[in-house]
Amino acid sequence: MAYRRVVAKFGTSLLTGGSDRLDRNIMSSLVKQVAQLHKQGLEVIIVSSGSIASGKHELGLTKKVKGVPFKQVLASVGQHRLMSLYEQLFRKHNITVAQALLAKVDLFDRAGYLNARNTLLALLELKVICIVNENDVVAVDELHEAMFGDNDNLSAMVANLVDADLLMILTDTAGLYTADINLDPDARLISEVERIDSEIERLAAGTSSKLGTGGMVTKVEAARLATASGVTVVIADGREKDVILRLAKGEALGTRFLPTTSKLESRRRWMLSGLAIKGKLVVDSGAAVALKKQKRSLLAAGIKDVDGEFQRGDIVNIYDPDECRVGCGITNYSSADIKVIKGAHSEKITTLLGYDYGSEIVHRNNLVVLE
Ligand code: GLU
Repeated sequence: MAYRRVVAKFGTSLLTGGSDRLDRNIMSSLVKQVAQLHKQGLEVIIVSSGSIASGKHELGLTKKVKGVPFKQVLASVGQHRLMSLYEQLFRKHNITVAQALLAKVDLFDRAGYLNARNTLLALLELKVICIVNENDVVAVDELHEAMFGDNDNLSAMVANLVDADLLMILTDTAGLYTADINLDPDARLISEVERIDSEIERLAAGTSSKLGTGGMVTKVEAARLATASGVTVVIADGREKDVILRLAKGEALGTRFLPTTSKLESRRRWMLSGLAIKGKLVVDSGAAVALKKQKRSLLAAGIKDVDGEFQRGDIVNIYDPDECRVGCGITNYSSADIKVIKGAHSEKITTLLGYDYGSEIVHRNNLVVLE
């Protein structure tokens, strides 16, 4: 298998097959392929649209729906119907599903980002398939920055959040073309994009989708975001036979966007950039070895000292007793909490604080160790 962790995004026009309702056959084929990859040990997270379409069908509405408030109502009617269908389809393959509704504001909040990341990674460890959608009911319309508005950008954010290797954006077209296929008989599919430049953006702007929110513009936007986090992105036709299985094997299908940096590099850059770092933890030599050599999580017992004021979700530097920087990571506890629990056994955390966020102060998933 060419990839280890994949985010698969299914758009509305794919899930409905262009009709006014979720298409069970199409969904069943997508689910079957995801289930097969899952059985082979590949980690998959789904980002699925379709709640608004499903709500609209349930209420018997036929006209095009305008206005965000009403779409929020439809999403509320449709979301659990969408999930219920996924649940039924995955159950046939003995796979448990989970739902995560994310809003942009939550992910910009440091604790929200950390909570979402920890939850999605924990679900992967538990072999549960998580189905993500935007939390349309609360997404705020007036502030464009507070809303993804389209699941293409959401899927790029999810791919970044979980350090995916591949993002598949599956839709009802084969990918990005050199011209509008409906108008130009010479239009041909672009199979690989090394860098998204103004020409690629111009081509994307020339195409639009009837049912989904974004069309090609938001797909290319998403590709730019994800490739900058080290993720390979493919836009492909979700109706193509075995498309998910073939893409996971690395087959050239649709339009592939190459990552512009390595995953590790992008995360390291983000974490190690002095700007983001809010404080410092000094650990004992045993903990320093466990972090460096065994790639373990940092526990309270190994912490000797705390410096600076920081909150849960902030990035902190980690030093050994000789003042040598071991690396840095996202902390699950604030500086005030760590002052109380440093040196203590993990089982004591609840007694000492009255609550706990797990035994790891910095989880190994959220740690970058300097070589
Ligand atoms: N969140 C919307 C839904 O589930 C879809 C947004 C989009 O089309 O990208 O219906």
